[in-house]
Amino acid sequence: MKKMFKVFALALLIIFAFTACPDNGGGGHTHNWSVWATTTSANCTAAGLQTRTCSESDCPTPTQTQPIAILGHNWNWGSYSSGTGARSCQRGGCSVTAGIGDTGQGGGVIFYASSFTFYQTAIDTTGVTRYYLEAAPRNIAGTHMWAASNGLIPGLSQDNTEETDWAIGRGLKNTLIINAETYSTPAANATRTGSHGNGTRTDWFLPSRHELNELYIRRAVVNTSSVVLGGSVLETGMGIFWSSSQNHSLSARARNFNDGDLYGTSKNDDRFNVRAVRAF
Ligand SMILES: [Zn+2]
Ligand SMILES: [Zn+2]
Repeated sequence: MKKMFKVFALALLIIFAFTACPDNGGGGHTHNWSVWATTTSANCTAAGLQTRTCSESDCPTPTQTQPIAILGHNWNWGSYSSGTGARSCQRGGCSVTAGIGDTGQGGGVIFYASSFTFYQTAIDTTGVTRYYLEAAPRNIAGTHMWAASNGLIPGLSQDNTEETDWAIGRGLKNTLIINAETYSTPAANATRTGSHGNGTRTDWFLPSRHELNELYIRRAVVNTSSVVLGGSVLETGMGIFWSSSQNHSLSARARNFNDGDLYGTSKNDDRFNVRAVRAF
């Protein structure tokens, strides 16, 4: 029994010795490899190939190949002027444009690309041109009230009907209006605190009702890309998200991402999820 174990251990050692050393060609041959040379370059969507050769004349396997990783598109958002339209890949020879699911300027996930451009309004401005909306890759931790007390906030929807504060491009202005009120506004304020992407941008906000709807429609792609970015899926906890659109004095607009239900629900009784978004 003891002898069998010794034989087994020796066999393991031999196997390990041959697999652990890639430069051993077997049969006592020692490779003398060239440096890796590119056979086919990698590009945005396809892997490349590199090759090296052994210069020893008795080499049993004189050529080795290995893949070069796919490069991925290069959006180079640092040189993008916000709102100037669809962003083309900045790598030579590639004309793909950034779209739904791609990483945005602020390190979030693009969930809306306008067919042309839209106006993003802020308090006391007529608007700036924007093209994309991106969502942070993760929900803000915890659940949040919309406001700590009831009361109609002027400048937002008043009577349970669609008004301009539901529109795409209005989320930032809504958020700033809510935050300027004397009411404590946990959900809106949470989006204005810190950077929610993987970048350094701090101009995130609570989406308007229609902006939140765009996020809901494309939640599957946003979830996949968020996880790739080290974030998490939208439908954690209750999966109900606040918008920045007011319903009336007692309630604000929210959406359940599990079943799609739309709510006009209590500003200060309900505590829901918040996913910060930004426009660029
Ligand atoms: Zn060799
Ligand atoms: Zn590309």
